[in-house]
Amino acid sequence: MPARVTLFGIEFDPLRMDQAVAQIWAWIASPPPRCAMVVTPNVDHLVLLTRRADFREAYRQASLVLADGMPIVWASRWLGQPLPERVAGSDLVPSVFASSSTKNTLNVFLLGAEPGVGQRAAERIQRAWPSVEVVGVSSPPIGFERDDAANAAICDQIASVQPDVLVVGLGAPKQELWVHTHRDRLAAKVAICAGGTIDFLAGKQRRAPQWMRESGLEWLYRLARQPRRLFARYARDAWVFPQLVARAWWEQRQLHRRMTELASAGRRLW
Ligand code: UDP
Repeated sequence: MPARVTLFGIEFDPLRMDQAVAQIWAWIASPPPRCAMVVTPNVDHLVLLTRRADFREAYRQASLVLADGMPIVWASRWLGQPLPERVAGSDLVPSVFASSSTKNTLNVFLLGAEPGVGQRAAERIQRAWPSVEVVGVSSPPIGFERDDAANAAICDQIASVQPDVLVVGLGAPKQELWVHTHRDRLAAKVAICAGGTIDFLAGKQRRAPQWMRESGLEWLYRLARQPRRLFARYARDAWVFPQLVARAWWEQRQLHRRMTELASAGRRLW
């Protein structure tokens, strides 16, 4: 694995999509002692991370941190610590499915989305990728995460089928906090925190066209489809994210200046 890159106080794995998929297969072939946890931060997560210590801790312990957003990739280049490309959770999950084969089959559990959506996603997944078997689906009700018995029942349901991949689509930060809290009980090899991916797989929501995803305009597409839900969120992100980038740039400049001073002091002493 290439060395991690620290940006905005969190450590990213600078991997391309194919490398991330290969890493997930490596964990499936040789499972780590604790379920591997994959997170895909977008700009909204970065803004949330500044305010939520519990979310930061979940992120700190993630096994794979991939940038889900062109603005993060652009900022990483501008700050001189380039991430190779955007790896969105909603692209990663289908890419992992697409890399299964009759020799390398995949057992998957879908956790999240509204009742019935997981089942629809399961049917479509099995039609599109015959080497993927959806071995379990759960759409827990709102607030389930505060109910110990409900959490235990979900962990037991997962343990009864031991999936290779657990797709967790509960939205952020709920999905990351849930996996982090129950990680030691999760009998899955890899858990991918993947936002609205189950909705996309079920055909309930449509992904933005490829050109919009690649040009950093997916947010605009989503905003047009769900303006009431997303307007306040995106307005806050558009205000806070440039400040995070500016602060990161300033801190980097200060660090560079201090290093240069230290180096010249060292030379003088020598
Ligand atoms: N969701 C859920 N339980 C909850 C809250 C949300 O299953 O308590 C699901 C919701 O139905 C949707 C997904 O989580 O399928 C959230 O998707 P979204 O695209 O909003 O993810 P975000 O962008 O917030 O990470």
